[in-house]
Amino acid sequence: MDFNSGLVIGRVRGVAIRVHWSWVVIFTLIAWSLADTVYPDYEKDWTQNQYWAAGVVSSVLFFASVLIHELSHTFVALHYGMQVPSITLFVFGGVSQMAGEMRSPRQEFFIAIVGPLSSWVLSILFGLLWLVTRDQGVAVVFGYLALINFALGFFNLLPGFPLDGGRVFRSIVWGRVHDLTKATRIASTVGQAIAWMMIVGGIVWVFFLGIGGLWYVLIGLFLKNASEQAYAQVLLERALKDVVAADVMRPPPVPVPEAWSLQQLAEDRILGDAERAFLVESIGRVSGLITISDLTHVPRARWAETTVREAMVAATEVHTVRPDTSILEAMRLMQEHDVNQLPVLDDGRLVGLLTRGDVLKRLELSALVGDTTDRGQQPRRI
Ligand SMILES: [Zn+2]
Repeated sequence: MDFNSGLVIGRVRGVAIRVHWSWVVIFTLIAWSLADTVYPDYEKDWTQNQYWAAGVVSSVLFFASVLIHELSHTFVALHYGMQVPSITLFVFGGVSQMAGEMRSPRQEFFIAIVGPLSSWVLSILFGLLWLVTRDQGVAVVFGYLALINFALGFFNLLPGFPLDGGRVFRSIVWGRVHDLTKATRIASTVGQAIAWMMIVGGIVWVFFLGIGGLWYVLIGLFLKNASEQAYAQVLLERALKDVVAADVMRPPPVPVPEAWSLQQLAEDRILGDAERAFLVESIGRVSGLITISDLTHVPRARWAETTVREAMVAATEVHTVRPDTSILEAMRLMQEHDVNQLPVLDDGRLVGLLTRGDVLKRLELSALVGDTTDRGQQPRRI
């Protein structure tokens, strides 16, 4: 599932709040099941419109509750100096994307535990509202929200990594073994065991109790997948954490003069040198970057009369890295700005070019021969 897709509905402290299309499905399902089945059991004399209004309001407040849960993770993460580019709400709840490594077990513990705790605080608040209004019809809505928030906190506290409870579990193991990779492996194994229990339990449920068990099968499959991915991600980040741009970059190709035509660039340099990206220079200074894709945006018939200067991306617009920038950070930049190469500058002086292809090749090699940069540890597979 791609959590970068989805509609941005707003921003809180610079964090984009996204709604994935699958959320619309769950939103509708909740509103519908409440209006059609649950509330009519408790309130016999409402009109159809009242059932639906209560269903939709409950669904909106549930949506707000999940958002508050995710925001609590976000605020603690920001407090610890991590970056949180976005929160995505999707079919199984919410996900906060965080950049930057967890620095200590303590940090991970607090970032994880605050989510379920805020769900339980919400549960208590809705419970109190239920208590105050329990003679009136609206009480069923508060009662529902108190229960669902309690369940949300409880479910998230299951020790299945990468659920919140799994992260709490990992932070405790990490604090004991002082090795994040090992702690992640243990947490991931427990996470997969819990996922399998959900899948098997869900199947048994379907056979003996009904179709509702399918929900647990789906959540179990999702959790199993997420747990495997989270472990692979940690291994990858560990393997590459000491690899910097200088290790992977290629020497900068000889720059192309600004005044050249695109025709000349295509014939002499792209076909001649088999390169895909070139720095452009003007009076001995780098003035821009031109790539094959910039070239192909100009119709071929106009290549002879269009200069490199007209088709290039100006130097001020080009994203660059330093020789000591980690390649994980460089990959993030390439993804974020949708570019395939980054010039490497040392104090403003061009020392190399980092291409997506070279970075991917390095990733592939790390996966094949294991991590050789992490001093004093056994090579391992990713
Ligand atoms: Zn959470």
